[in-house]
Order: sequence, then structure tokens, then C-alpha cells
Amino acid sequence: MQKKLRIGVLTSGGDAPGMNAAVRAIVLACKIQNFTCMGFSHGYNGLLDDETSILTSRHVNDVLRQGGTVLRSARCKGMLTPDGPKQAANTLLKQDIDALIVIGGDGSFRGMLEIEKHWDGLLVGLPGTIDNDLAFCDKTIGFATAVQTACDAIDKIRDTANAFERVFIVEVMGRHSGHIAFHVGLATGAEAILSFENFDVASTQSIVDELSQQILKQQHDKHSSFLIVLAENLWPNGPEALKKALKVKANIESGICILGHIQRGGSPIAEDRLLASKLGLAAVDACINGSHRVMLGELNGEVIKTDLEQTIKQHKPVSPFWVTAHKNVLKGFI
Ligand code: ATP
Repeated sequence: MQKKLRIGVLTSGGDAPGMNAAVRAIVLACKIQNFTCMGFSHGYNGLLDDETSILTSRHVNDVLRQGGTVLRSARCKGMLTPDGPKQAANTLLKQDIDALIVIGGDGSFRGMLEIEKHWDGLLVGLPGTIDNDLAFCDKTIGFATAVQTACDAIDKIRDTANAFERVFIVEVMGRHSGHIAFHVGLATGAEAILSFENFDVASTQSIVDELSQQILKQQHDKHSSFLIVLAENLWPNGPEALKKALKVKANIESGICILGHIQRGGSPIAEDRLLASKLGLAAVDACINGSHRVMLGELNGEVIKTDLEQTIKQHKPVSPFWVTAHKNVLKGFI
């Protein structure tokens, strides 16, 4: 007979739209199996502080369309101390948890591997981060919505940029990966995309020279606006320094818009709701099947399992196809 499992779940790291859909699917799948689903609040803090509650279908009623995470998320410094992971493991033992499902990014998966040293329950990770930097999955939960949100905002910036024939530098999120920058830049027809994949800190002056030339040509040809999508944490001293460099080089005026946390919030688009629901169901199945220290990701429509250790070693690069396509064709002027 199937053991009645006690499954713990938490959301960790930066929140991502769709995390709620994953939690909902886990809670509902546990209910069908007559399992107990325990939610830990505020990321790993909930484990360290034993901030726990039993989740029922009532808790996940109408959460599919909500951004953020009903479990709350956090970056937990305590997990980085020598005693943190052991303390987390002690809570799992105390709560008699059989399997822990963590929805987060690679940092959260590192945390799981530390907990594993002190606890022998099952550990299952779901890729939940707007950055899309995890390998072994086509997309992470939240990425598609973050891209859509940024596109919607940039389309509006384009309108006003067109009206005044202006140059805009728009900074987008992504921590240290260019998935958001490239996808958003391509989808909005940005004339320039500056991201980790096509940037070298030693070449900032030549990038400014080239951009200036392109902008002046664009203005001469009476194209109406010029959008530069800039990945966060890329340009030395940020977008202000790039703006200043363009002014110094060619007297080019530009506006700056930092999209920031707008990209994290908002209702998840259907694609993220479906991905998260599928992975949430698969996570409970993985617990039933005794899968351990795995990340579940969707690749070509199939849910695949990857050892957690692998997922933190290998990051997913932006498709070279898109990098080349933008450089050679899609920036909109030749
Ligand atoms: P995002 O991609 O949205 O930033 P993430 O999961 O990568 O998500 P991090 O802040 O890197 O976000 O990690 C989340 C949490 O995981 C950290 O706050 C910390 O509590 C835990 N964590 C990260 N790295 C480790 C580690 N080496 N050992 C133990 N815990 C860790």
C-alpha cells in the first residue's frame, strides 16, 4: 500500500509569476493522494524558524492568476551559515517530512544540496526564476511572464520615444544572464541589445562609438526612435554611465528607464500557469516514485529529471541563433 507521505513545499529566491500555480498543483495532487502538504513560509527562513502550516485546497483557491507567491519568498542568510542547513534538516525531521519540494533558482538548489548532508528525505526542485538561466529545461517558471511584462512596458516607451524621436536606454532584469534582455529586445524590435552574450568590458568605448554612429545614422535617415535594451549588472556604473558616454561622444541625448521589479510582478500568463501546474503535478509523482535530488524541467514538452548537482554546474546560454539574428538582421536597420 502507498505510504501516506508528508510533503513539504517552499518558494525561495526571487519570486516568479507562476510559483502559485506550482504550489496549487502540489497541494491539489497531495489532496487526491490523501497526503499531507506542509507549506514553509518565507523561503528557507520557514525551515530555519519552523514557520509551517498545513496547506489545503482552501489555501490555493484562486491563486492561479496571482503574481508573487502565497508562501512568500526570501533570500535566507541563515542558510549560508555553517549551522543553517542542519537547522533546516532538524525542522524537516521534527515535522516528519518525507519529501521537500523547493521552487526556486540555482541558489535554492544549492541550499537543497546542503540540506541533503543532514537529512535523508527526498528532495525535488522545480525551476522557478524569471532569469531562465537554468539548463535542462526549455523555460523556467516565470520567465515568459517577465518577458511579456517587459515587452508591454517597452512598447509604451516606444510610443513616446517615437513621438519625440528620442533615444531610450531601458534596463531589464536577469541578474547575470541575458535571456530576458535578448528575448525582450528581439520581441520589441530594439535597435540595440547590450547583454552578457555580446559585451566585453574592455570594449565599452568601441561599443559607444558604434552605437553613436548607428544613432546618428538613424536620426539622419529620419527613423523615429532608437531603443537600447540593456541587461542589469552589465554596463560599468550602470545606464547613467552609458547615457553620459553617448552625450560625450556625439552629443546624443537619451532617456533612461529602469524596469526593475515591475518585471517580477503581475498575473502569470497562461504559459507560465500551465508549465508550473505540469511541474507541480510531476513533483508529487516524483515523490511517490522515490525520486531524490532531482530538478524537474520541461524539455520539448516532456518533463525530465536532472540531478540537482548537474543543474548548478551548468547554466543555460542564450540561443546563439538569436544573438546572431539580432546582430545581422533583426535590429531593424542595415
Ligand atoms: P533567483 O534566480 O530568482 O535569484 P535563486 O534561488 O538562485 O533564485 P538565491 O538568492 O541565489 O536565489 O538563493 C536563494 C536562497 O538559497 C539563498 O537566499 C540561500 O538561503 C539559499 N542558498 C543559496 N546558495 C546557498 C548555498 N551555497 N548553501 C546554502 N544555501 C544556499
